[in-house]
Amino acid sequence: MEYFDSVESISQEHAQSPIGHWQNWSSNQSCTPKHVFQPVSTSELASTLKEYSGKLRVVGSGHSFSPLVNSNDMLISLNQITGLIGSDKSEHTARVMAGTPLHQLGPLLESIDQSMMNLGDIDHQSIAGAITTGTHGTGAKLSCLSHLIKSMTLIAVDGSVIECSASHNRELFNAARVSLGALGIITEIELQNRPKYRLKESIDVVPLKEALTNIETWKHQHRHVELFAFGYSDQAILKTLNITEEAPFQAKAPLISDDSLLTLFCEVTRKAPKLTSLIHHQIFRFIKPSSRVDESYKALTSVRNVRFNEMEYQVSSETGPECFERIINHIQKHKLPAFFPIEYRYVAGDDIWLSPFYNRDSASISIHQYYKQDYHGLFGELEPIFDDYQGRPHWGKIHTKEQKQLSEMYPHWETFQAIRQELDPKNQLLNPALSAIFKKP
Ligand SMILES: Cc1cc2nc3c(=O)[nH]c(=O)nc-3n(C[C@H](O)[C@H](O)[C@H](O)COP(=O)(O)OP(=O)(O)OC[C@H]3O[C@@H](n4cnc5c(N)ncnc54)[C@H](O)[C@@H]3O)c2cc1C
Repeated sequence: MEYFDSVESISQEHAQSPIGHWQNWSSNQSCTPKHVFQPVSTSELASTLKEYSGKLRVVGSGHSFSPLVNSNDMLISLNQITGLIGSDKSEHTARVMAGTPLHQLGPLLESIDQSMMNLGDIDHQSIAGAITTGTHGTGAKLSCLSHLIKSMTLIAVDGSVIECSASHNRELFNAARVSLGALGIITEIELQNRPKYRLKESIDVVPLKEALTNIETWKHQHRHVELFAFGYSDQAILKTLNITEEAPFQAKAPLISDDSLLTLFCEVTRKAPKLTSLIHHQIFRFIKPSSRVDESYKALTSVRNVRFNEMEYQVSSETGPECFERIINHIQKHKLPAFFPIEYRYVAGDDIWLSPFYNRDSASISIHQYYKQDYHGLFGELEPIFDDYQGRPHWGKIHTKEQKQLSEMYPHWETFQAIRQELDPKNQLLNPALSAIFKKP
Protein backbone atom coordinates (compact mmCIF):
# COMPACT_ATOMS: atom_id res chain seq x y z
CA MET A 1 0.00 0.00 0.00
CA GLU A 2 1.26 3.47 -0.91
CA TYR A 3 0.86 5.96 1.97
CA PHE A 4 -0.05 9.63 1.52
CA ASP A 5 0.74 12.90 3.33
CA SER A 6 -0.29 13.31 6.93
CA VAL A 7 -4.03 12.86 7.28
CA GLU A 8 -4.52 15.97 9.42
CA SER A 9 -3.16 18.12 6.61
CA ILE A 10 -6.09 17.27 4.36
CA SER A 11 -8.78 17.23 7.00
CA GLN A 12 -9.37 20.90 7.71
CA GLU A 13 -11.89 21.45 4.92
CA HIS A 14 -14.47 19.48 6.86
CA ALA A 15 -13.68 20.90 10.29
CA GLN A 16 -16.90 22.04 11.98
CA SER A 17 -17.64 24.21 14.97
CA PRO A 18 -18.19 22.41 18.28
CA ILE A 19 -21.54 20.70 18.45
CA GLY A 20 -23.10 21.88 21.77
CA HIS A 21 -26.77 21.05 21.30
CA TRP A 22 -26.88 18.28 18.72
CA GLN A 23 -29.72 17.27 16.41
CA ASN A 24 -29.88 14.92 13.46
CA TRP A 25 -30.69 15.75 9.84
CA SER A 26 -34.46 15.35 10.13
CA SER A 27 -34.53 16.87 13.67
CA ASN A 28 -36.41 13.93 15.24
CA GLN A 29 -33.37 13.19 17.47
CA SER A 30 -31.51 15.64 19.68
CA CYS A 31 -29.34 15.77 22.79
CA THR A 32 -27.18 18.12 24.82
CA PRO A 33 -23.88 16.38 25.55
CA LYS A 34 -21.82 17.52 28.54
CA HIS A 35 -18.62 17.23 26.52
CA VAL A 36 -18.05 17.32 22.79
CA PHE A 37 -14.72 15.82 21.83
CA GLN A 38 -13.27 16.32 18.35
CA PRO A 39 -9.84 14.68 18.48
CA VAL A 40 -7.23 15.90 16.04
CA SER A 41 -5.40 12.57 15.95
CA THR A 42 -6.16 8.95 16.72
CA SER A 43 -3.50 8.95 19.44
CA GLU A 44 -5.31 11.83 21.17
CA LEU A 45 -8.54 9.81 20.90
CA ALA A 46 -6.89 6.67 22.33
CA SER A 47 -5.28 8.50 25.28
CA THR A 48 -8.50 10.35 26.14
CA LEU A 49 -10.52 7.13 26.10
CA LYS A 50 -7.95 5.49 28.36
CA GLU A 51 -8.54 8.20 31.01
CA TYR A 52 -12.31 8.59 30.56
CA SER A 53 -14.70 6.37 32.49
CA GLY A 54 -18.08 7.94 31.66
CA LYS A 55 -20.66 7.23 28.96
CA LEU A 56 -19.88 8.15 25.37
CA ARG A 57 -21.26 7.95 21.87
CA VAL A 58 -19.69 8.74 18.52
CA VAL A 59 -21.47 10.74 15.82
CA GLY A 60 -20.84 10.58 12.07
CA SER A 61 -22.80 13.13 10.02
CA GLY A 62 -26.05 12.80 11.99
CA HIS A 63 -28.03 11.27 9.13
CA SER A 64 -29.63 8.44 11.08
CA PHE A 65 -33.28 8.68 12.07
CA SER A 66 -33.03 6.22 14.97
CA PRO A 67 -31.65 7.25 18.42
CA LEU A 68 -28.18 5.78 17.94
CA VAL A 69 -26.09 8.87 18.54
CA ASN A 70 -27.87 10.58 21.46
CA SER A 71 -25.55 11.18 24.40
CA ASN A 72 -25.92 13.43 27.42
CA ASP A 73 -22.34 12.67 28.49
CA MET A 74 -19.58 12.66 25.89
CA LEU A 75 -20.19 12.91 22.17
CA ILE A 76 -17.19 12.24 19.95
CA SER A 77 -16.89 13.39 16.36
CA LEU A 78 -14.04 12.36 14.07
CA ASN A 79 -14.65 15.28 11.71
CA GLN A 80 -11.18 16.73 12.37
CA ILE A 81 -9.35 13.64 11.13
CA THR A 82 -10.62 12.81 7.68
CA GLY A 83 -9.05 11.89 4.35
CA LEU A 84 -7.20 9.24 2.45
CA ILE A 85 -4.36 7.38 4.19
CA GLY A 86 -3.06 5.11 1.43
CA SER A 87 -3.98 2.96 -1.53
CA ASP A 88 -3.02 -0.13 -3.46
CA LYS A 89 -3.20 0.47 -7.21
CA SER A 90 -3.24 -3.12 -8.39
CA GLU A 91 -5.82 -4.30 -5.81
CA HIS A 92 -7.95 -1.12 -6.12
CA THR A 93 -8.08 -0.75 -2.35
CA ALA A 94 -7.84 2.43 -0.31
CA ARG A 95 -7.41 3.07 3.41
CA VAL A 96 -9.39 6.06 4.67
CA MET A 97 -10.02 7.84 7.94
CA ALA A 98 -13.35 6.67 9.31
CA GLY A 99 -14.81 10.15 9.80
CA THR A 100 -14.42 11.08 6.13
CA PRO A 101 -17.74 12.15 4.61
CA LEU A 102 -18.70 10.30 1.45
CA HIS A 103 -18.96 13.53 -0.56
CA GLN A 104 -15.27 14.13 0.21
CA LEU A 105 -14.34 10.52 -0.45
CA GLY A 106 -15.71 10.43 -4.04
CA PRO A 107 -13.26 13.06 -5.41
CA LEU A 108 -10.40 11.73 -3.24
CA LEU A 109 -10.81 8.24 -4.69
CA GLU A 110 -11.21 9.67 -8.21
CA SER A 111 -7.80 11.33 -7.79
CA ILE A 112 -6.26 7.85 -7.43
CA ASP A 113 -8.40 6.36 -10.26
CA GLN A 114 -10.70 4.48 -7.89
CA SER A 115 -14.42 4.59 -7.10
CA MET A 116 -16.62 2.86 -4.58
CA MET A 117 -18.58 -0.12 -5.90
CA ASN A 118 -21.87 1.46 -4.90
CA LEU A 119 -23.37 4.27 -2.82
CA GLY A 120 -26.70 5.03 -1.18
CA ASP A 121 -29.05 7.79 -2.15
CA ILE A 122 -26.94 10.61 -0.69
CA ASP A 123 -23.27 11.25 0.06
CA HIS A 124 -23.46 13.20 3.30
CA GLN A 125 -22.82 10.34 5.69
CA SER A 126 -19.37 9.68 7.13
CA ILE A 127 -17.94 6.40 5.88
CA ALA A 128 -17.91 4.96 9.44
CA GLY A 129 -21.49 6.08 10.12
CA ALA A 130 -22.62 4.60 6.81
CA ILE A 131 -20.96 1.21 7.22
CA THR A 132 -21.85 0.72 10.86
CA THR A 133 -25.61 0.80 10.14
CA GLY A 134 -25.42 -1.28 6.93
CA THR A 135 -26.06 1.61 4.56
CA HIS A 136 -26.70 0.42 1.01
CA GLY A 137 -27.63 1.52 -2.48
CA THR A 138 -29.42 -0.62 -5.04
CA GLY A 139 -28.21 -3.47 -7.27
CA ALA A 140 -29.09 -7.16 -7.12
CA LYS A 141 -25.41 -8.12 -7.22
CA LEU A 142 -24.16 -5.27 -5.04
CA SER A 143 -23.84 -5.62 -1.29
CA CYS A 144 -24.22 -2.95 1.37
CA LEU A 145 -21.23 -0.64 1.93
CA SER A 146 -20.17 -2.54 5.09
CA HIS A 147 -19.36 -5.56 2.93
CA LEU A 148 -16.82 -3.51 0.94
CA ILE A 149 -14.51 -3.34 3.95
CA LYS A 150 -11.28 -5.33 3.76
CA SER A 151 -9.94 -4.35 7.16
CA MET A 152 -10.51 -1.78 9.85
CA THR A 153 -9.02 -0.23 12.99
CA LEU A 154 -11.09 0.22 16.10
CA ILE A 155 -10.25 1.93 19.38
CA ALA A 156 -11.94 0.28 22.35
CA VAL A 157 -13.20 2.24 25.38
CA ASP A 158 -10.01 1.36 27.30
CA GLY A 159 -7.96 3.07 24.59
CA SER A 160 -6.57 -0.10 23.03
CA VAL A 161 -6.16 -0.07 19.27
CA ILE A 162 -7.43 -3.21 17.52
CA GLU A 163 -7.04 -4.24 13.89
CA CYS A 164 -9.36 -6.72 12.25
CA SER A 165 -9.94 -8.26 8.84
CA ALA A 166 -11.14 -11.55 7.34
CA SER A 167 -7.78 -13.11 8.23
CA HIS A 168 -6.96 -11.33 11.51
CA ASN A 169 -9.40 -11.13 14.45
CA ARG A 170 -12.02 -12.60 12.15
CA GLU A 171 -14.80 -12.79 14.76
CA LEU A 172 -14.37 -9.11 15.62
CA PHE A 173 -14.39 -8.30 11.89
CA ASN A 174 -17.72 -10.12 11.46
CA ALA A 175 -19.14 -8.21 14.40
CA ALA A 176 -17.64 -4.77 13.82
CA ARG A 177 -18.57 -4.08 10.22
CA VAL A 178 -22.19 -3.43 11.31
CA SER A 179 -21.97 -2.55 15.00
CA LEU A 180 -23.79 0.77 15.58
CA GLY A 181 -20.80 2.25 17.38
CA ALA A 182 -21.42 -0.25 20.18
CA LEU A 183 -18.05 -2.04 20.07
CA GLY A 184 -15.68 0.92 19.96
CA ILE A 185 -14.72 3.79 17.72
CA ILE A 186 -13.73 2.91 14.19
CA THR A 187 -10.81 5.09 13.13
CA GLU A 188 -9.60 3.62 9.82
CA ILE A 189 -11.30 1.62 7.09
CA GLU A 190 -9.74 -0.21 4.15
CA LEU A 191 -12.18 -0.30 1.25
CA GLN A 192 -12.33 -2.64 -1.71
CA ASN A 193 -13.00 -0.29 -4.60
CA ARG A 194 -12.86 -0.65 -8.37
CA PRO A 195 -11.27 1.41 -11.14
CA LYS A 196 -13.23 4.64 -11.54
CA TYR A 197 -16.22 4.34 -13.86
CA ARG A 198 -19.11 6.29 -15.31
CA LEU A 199 -22.79 5.49 -15.03
CA LYS A 200 -25.71 6.33 -17.28
CA GLU A 201 -28.89 7.02 -15.37
CA SER A 202 -32.29 6.60 -17.05
CA ILE A 203 -35.53 7.78 -15.49
CA ASP A 204 -38.76 6.37 -16.96
CA VAL A 205 -42.40 6.41 -16.02
CA VAL A 206 -43.95 2.91 -16.04
CA PRO A 207 -47.33 1.44 -15.09
CA LEU A 208 -47.00 0.18 -11.51
CA LYS A 209 -48.52 -3.22 -12.37
CA GLU A 210 -45.98 -3.73 -15.17
CA ALA A 211 -43.17 -2.77 -12.79
CA LEU A 212 -44.32 -5.21 -10.12
CA THR A 213 -44.52 -8.01 -12.70
CA ASN A 214 -41.14 -7.30 -14.28
CA ILE A 215 -38.90 -5.88 -11.59
CA GLU A 216 -37.49 -9.33 -10.74
CA THR A 217 -36.39 -9.63 -14.40
CA TRP A 218 -35.20 -6.03 -14.71
CA LYS A 219 -32.95 -6.46 -11.69
CA HIS A 220 -30.78 -8.81 -13.78
CA GLN A 221 -30.72 -6.45 -16.77
CA HIS A 222 -29.35 -3.37 -15.03
CA ARG A 223 -26.47 -2.84 -12.57
CA HIS A 224 -28.79 -0.69 -10.46
CA VAL A 225 -32.58 -0.67 -10.49
CA GLU A 226 -34.90 1.34 -8.25
CA LEU A 227 -38.64 2.03 -8.17
CA PHE A 228 -40.54 4.94 -6.64
CA ALA A 229 -44.29 4.42 -6.28
CA PHE A 230 -46.81 6.97 -5.08
CA GLY A 231 -49.42 5.37 -2.83
CA TYR A 232 -52.46 6.55 -4.82
CA SER A 233 -51.12 6.39 -8.38
CA ASP A 234 -51.06 3.47 -10.81
CA GLN A 235 -47.78 4.70 -12.29
CA ALA A 236 -44.26 4.54 -10.89
CA ILE A 237 -40.83 6.02 -11.53
CA LEU A 238 -38.25 3.49 -12.72
CA LYS A 239 -34.63 4.50 -12.25
CA THR A 240 -31.84 2.39 -13.74
CA LEU A 241 -28.09 2.93 -13.90
CA ASN A 242 -25.55 1.09 -16.00
CA ILE A 243 -21.83 1.40 -16.65
CA THR A 244 -21.04 3.42 -19.78
CA GLU A 245 -18.12 4.84 -21.75
CA GLU A 246 -20.25 7.81 -22.91
CA ALA A 247 -19.05 11.33 -22.14
CA PRO A 248 -20.77 13.01 -19.17
CA PHE A 249 -23.94 15.02 -19.86
CA GLN A 250 -26.66 16.36 -17.61
CA ALA A 251 -30.44 15.96 -17.85
CA LYS A 252 -32.40 19.07 -18.86
CA ALA A 253 -33.35 21.01 -15.74
CA PRO A 254 -37.15 21.10 -15.13
CA LEU A 255 -38.92 24.47 -15.22
CA ILE A 256 -39.87 24.14 -11.56
CA SER A 257 -37.28 22.42 -9.38
CA ASP A 258 -38.17 19.03 -7.91
CA ASP A 259 -37.48 20.41 -4.42
CA SER A 260 -39.89 23.33 -4.85
CA LEU A 261 -42.63 21.01 -6.11
CA LEU A 262 -42.03 18.45 -3.38
CA THR A 263 -42.09 21.11 -0.65
CA LEU A 264 -45.27 22.62 -2.07
CA PHE A 265 -47.05 19.25 -2.28
CA CYS A 266 -45.83 18.19 1.18
CA GLU A 267 -47.13 21.42 2.71
CA VAL A 268 -50.49 21.15 0.91
CA THR A 269 -51.04 17.49 1.82
CA ARG A 270 -49.88 18.06 5.39
CA LYS A 271 -52.66 20.62 5.83
CA ALA A 272 -55.21 18.80 3.64
CA PRO A 273 -54.36 15.04 3.62
CA LYS A 274 -57.47 14.34 1.51
CA LEU A 275 -55.72 15.99 -1.43
CA THR A 276 -52.93 13.38 -1.43
CA SER A 277 -54.80 11.03 -3.76
CA LEU A 278 -55.70 13.87 -6.16
CA ILE A 279 -52.11 15.12 -6.32
CA HIS A 280 -50.72 11.60 -6.77
CA HIS A 281 -53.02 11.19 -9.78
CA GLN A 282 -51.63 14.38 -11.33
CA ILE A 283 -48.00 14.15 -10.28
CA PHE A 284 -46.79 12.34 -13.38
CA ARG A 285 -47.54 15.48 -15.39
CA PHE A 286 -44.39 16.85 -13.74
CA ILE A 287 -42.17 13.78 -14.04
CA LYS A 288 -40.58 13.34 -17.45
CA PRO A 289 -38.29 10.56 -18.72
CA SER A 290 -34.67 11.70 -18.71
CA SER A 291 -31.12 10.47 -18.79
CA ARG A 292 -27.66 11.65 -17.79
CA VAL A 293 -24.09 10.37 -17.62
CA ASP A 294 -21.65 11.14 -14.84
CA GLU A 295 -18.80 9.76 -12.77
CA SER A 296 -20.24 6.95 -10.65
CA TYR A 297 -20.06 8.77 -7.32
CA LYS A 298 -22.00 11.72 -8.75
CA ALA A 299 -24.51 9.63 -10.73
CA LEU A 300 -25.37 7.37 -7.80
CA THR A 301 -26.28 10.09 -5.31
CA SER A 302 -28.91 12.79 -5.18
CA VAL A 303 -29.38 16.01 -3.26
CA ARG A 304 -32.20 15.67 -0.74
CA ASN A 305 -33.19 19.12 0.49
CA VAL A 306 -36.75 18.31 1.55
CA ARG A 307 -36.47 16.71 4.97
CA PHE A 308 -38.33 13.56 5.96
CA ASN A 309 -38.31 10.71 8.45
CA GLU A 310 -37.96 7.18 7.21
CA MET A 311 -38.72 3.56 8.07
CA GLU A 312 -37.07 0.88 5.94
CA TYR A 313 -37.22 -2.90 6.03
CA GLN A 314 -35.32 -5.58 4.15
CA VAL A 315 -37.29 -8.63 3.00
CA SER A 316 -36.12 -11.55 0.83
CA SER A 317 -35.76 -10.41 -2.78
CA GLU A 318 -38.30 -12.95 -4.09
CA THR A 319 -41.01 -11.67 -1.75
CA GLY A 320 -40.13 -8.03 -2.43
CA PRO A 321 -42.69 -7.27 -5.18
CA GLU A 322 -45.54 -8.87 -3.19
CA CYS A 323 -44.61 -7.00 0.01
CA PHE A 324 -44.30 -3.72 -1.92
CA GLU A 325 -47.75 -4.24 -3.50
CA ARG A 326 -49.29 -4.95 -0.09
CA ILE A 327 -47.81 -1.71 1.29
CA ILE A 328 -49.32 0.31 -1.55
CA ASN A 329 -52.70 -1.45 -1.29
CA HIS A 330 -52.76 -0.80 2.47
CA ILE A 331 -52.08 2.91 1.98
CA GLN A 332 -54.95 3.13 -0.53
CA LYS A 333 -57.40 1.00 1.43
CA HIS A 334 -56.87 2.86 4.71
CA LYS A 335 -56.43 6.26 3.05
CA LEU A 336 -53.13 6.80 4.86
CA PRO A 337 -51.48 10.24 4.74
CA ALA A 338 -48.42 9.20 2.71
CA PHE A 339 -47.36 11.78 0.17
CA PHE A 340 -43.68 10.85 -0.24
CA PRO A 341 -42.95 8.05 -2.73
CA ILE A 342 -42.35 4.51 -1.46
CA GLU A 343 -38.89 3.36 -2.53
CA TYR A 344 -37.94 -0.14 -3.70
CA ARG A 345 -34.32 -1.33 -4.11
CA TYR A 346 -32.26 -4.53 -4.20
CA VAL A 347 -29.23 -5.42 -2.05
CA ALA A 348 -27.10 -8.59 -2.26
CA GLY A 349 -26.80 -10.80 0.81
CA ASP A 350 -23.63 -10.85 2.94
CA ASP A 351 -21.91 -12.58 5.87
CA ILE A 352 -21.87 -9.76 8.45
CA TRP A 353 -23.48 -10.83 11.72
CA LEU A 354 -25.79 -7.85 12.33
CA SER A 355 -26.24 -6.88 8.71
CA PRO A 356 -29.92 -6.68 7.74
CA PHE A 357 -28.79 -8.50 4.57
CA TYR A 358 -27.17 -11.38 6.48
CA ASN A 359 -27.37 -14.52 4.36
CA ARG A 360 -30.25 -13.13 2.29
CA ASP A 361 -30.44 -11.36 -1.06
CA SER A 362 -32.90 -8.64 -0.21
CA ALA A 363 -35.46 -6.19 -1.46
CA SER A 364 -35.32 -2.96 0.50
CA ILE A 365 -38.57 -1.03 0.96
CA SER A 366 -38.63 2.49 2.43
CA ILE A 367 -41.54 4.57 3.68
CA HIS A 368 -40.97 8.31 4.15
CA GLN A 369 -42.96 10.95 5.96
CA TYR A 370 -42.43 14.74 5.59
CA TYR A 371 -40.49 15.91 8.65
CA LYS A 372 -43.22 18.31 9.80
CA GLN A 373 -45.75 15.46 9.95
CA ASP A 374 -46.01 12.89 12.72
CA TYR A 375 -44.72 9.59 11.32
CA HIS A 376 -45.86 7.25 14.11
CA GLY A 377 -49.32 6.55 12.67
CA LEU A 378 -48.15 5.85 9.12
CA PHE A 379 -45.14 3.74 10.10
CA GLY A 380 -47.15 1.90 12.79
CA GLU A 381 -49.81 0.93 10.20
CA LEU A 382 -47.27 -0.43 7.75
CA GLU A 383 -44.64 -2.07 9.98
CA PRO A 384 -46.73 -5.25 10.63
CA ILE A 385 -46.75 -5.95 6.88
CA PHE A 386 -42.96 -6.19 6.96
CA ASP A 387 -43.25 -8.61 9.91
CA ASP A 388 -45.27 -10.96 7.68
CA TYR A 389 -42.18 -11.20 5.42
CA GLN A 390 -39.61 -11.61 8.25
CA GLY A 391 -38.41 -8.10 7.48
CA ARG A 392 -35.28 -6.78 9.15
CA PRO A 393 -35.22 -3.04 9.92
CA HIS A 394 -32.51 -0.65 8.74
CA TRP A 395 -30.51 0.15 11.88
CA GLY A 396 -30.32 3.85 11.07
CA LYS A 397 -34.05 4.29 10.40
CA ILE A 398 -37.21 4.28 12.48
CA HIS A 399 -38.49 0.94 13.75
CA THR A 400 -40.05 -0.46 16.92
CA LYS A 401 -38.23 -3.78 17.14
CA GLU A 402 -37.03 -4.78 20.61
CA GLN A 403 -34.21 -6.99 21.88
CA LYS A 404 -36.16 -10.27 21.69
CA GLN A 405 -37.33 -9.77 18.11
CA LEU A 406 -33.93 -8.54 16.95
CA SER A 407 -32.11 -11.43 18.59
CA GLU A 408 -34.36 -13.84 16.68
CA MET A 409 -33.51 -12.18 13.37
CA TYR A 410 -29.75 -12.62 13.74
CA PRO A 411 -28.28 -16.11 14.32
CA HIS A 412 -24.98 -14.67 15.66
CA TRP A 413 -26.68 -12.26 18.10
CA GLU A 414 -25.26 -13.93 21.24
CA THR A 415 -21.69 -14.06 19.92
CA PHE A 416 -21.97 -10.37 19.07
CA GLN A 417 -23.12 -9.71 22.66
CA ALA A 418 -20.17 -11.65 24.09
CA ILE A 419 -17.70 -9.62 22.00
CA ARG A 420 -19.49 -6.41 23.01
CA GLN A 421 -19.29 -7.25 26.72
CA GLU A 422 -15.60 -8.03 26.42
CA LEU A 423 -14.83 -4.73 24.68
CA ASP A 424 -17.19 -2.56 26.75
CA PRO A 425 -17.56 -4.30 30.15
CA LYS A 426 -19.00 -1.20 31.87
CA ASN A 427 -21.47 -0.45 29.07
CA GLN A 428 -19.92 2.97 28.49
CA LEU A 429 -21.02 2.89 24.85
CA LEU A 430 -24.69 2.26 25.55
CA ASN A 431 -27.20 5.12 25.50
CA PRO A 432 -30.78 4.27 26.54
CA ALA A 433 -31.80 3.08 23.05
CA LEU A 434 -28.77 0.82 22.72
CA SER A 435 -29.15 -0.43 26.31
CA ALA A 436 -32.67 -1.53 25.45
CA ILE A 437 -31.29 -3.57 22.55
CA PHE A 438 -27.99 -4.86 23.87
CA LYS A 439 -28.03 -4.91 27.69
CA LYS A 440 -28.55 -8.35 29.23
CA PRO A 441 -32.06 -8.43 30.79
C1 LIG B 1 -31.49 11.98 3.34
C2 LIG B 1 -31.02 10.61 3.77
C3 LIG B 1 -30.81 9.64 2.81
C4 LIG B 1 -30.38 8.37 3.19
N1 LIG B 1 -30.18 7.43 2.21
C5 LIG B 1 -29.82 6.18 2.56
C6 LIG B 1 -29.64 5.18 1.56
O1 LIG B 1 -29.77 5.43 0.37
N2 LIG B 1 -29.33 3.93 1.98
C7 LIG B 1 -29.19 3.60 3.30
O2 LIG B 1 -28.93 2.44 3.61
N3 LIG B 1 -29.32 4.54 4.26
C8 LIG B 1 -29.61 5.82 3.91
N4 LIG B 1 -29.74 6.77 4.89
C9 LIG B 1 -29.41 6.41 6.28
C10 LIG B 1 -27.94 6.68 6.59
O3 LIG B 1 -27.09 6.24 5.57
C11 LIG B 1 -27.50 5.96 7.86
O4 LIG B 1 -28.36 6.25 8.91
C12 LIG B 1 -26.05 6.27 8.25
O5 LIG B 1 -25.73 5.52 9.39
C13 LIG B 1 -25.80 7.75 8.54
O6 LIG B 1 -24.41 7.98 8.60
P1 LIG B 1 -23.83 9.17 9.50
O7 LIG B 1 -22.41 9.36 9.15
O8 LIG B 1 -24.73 10.33 9.42
O9 LIG B 1 -23.89 8.48 10.93
P2 LIG B 1 -24.69 8.90 12.27
O10 LIG B 1 -26.14 8.93 11.93
O11 LIG B 1 -24.06 10.13 12.81
O12 LIG B 1 -24.36 7.65 13.14
C14 LIG B 1 -24.85 6.38 12.78
C15 LIG B 1 -24.19 5.31 13.64
O13 LIG B 1 -22.81 5.23 13.31
C16 LIG B 1 -22.04 5.27 14.50
N5 LIG B 1 -20.73 5.82 14.15
C17 LIG B 1 -20.46 6.98 13.53
N6 LIG B 1 -19.12 7.13 13.42
C18 LIG B 1 -18.56 6.05 13.99
C19 LIG B 1 -17.22 5.62 14.20
N7 LIG B 1 -16.19 6.34 13.81
N8 LIG B 1 -17.01 4.45 14.84
C20 LIG B 1 -18.04 3.70 15.27
N9 LIG B 1 -19.33 4.04 15.09
C21 LIG B 1 -19.58 5.21 14.45
C22 LIG B 1 -22.86 6.13 15.43
O14 LIG B 1 -22.49 5.94 16.77
C23 LIG B 1 -24.25 5.61 15.14
O15 LIG B 1 -24.48 4.42 15.85
C24 LIG B 1 -30.14 8.06 4.55
C25 LIG B 1 -30.35 9.05 5.52
C26 LIG B 1 -30.77 10.31 5.14
C27 LIG B 1 -31.00 11.37 6.18
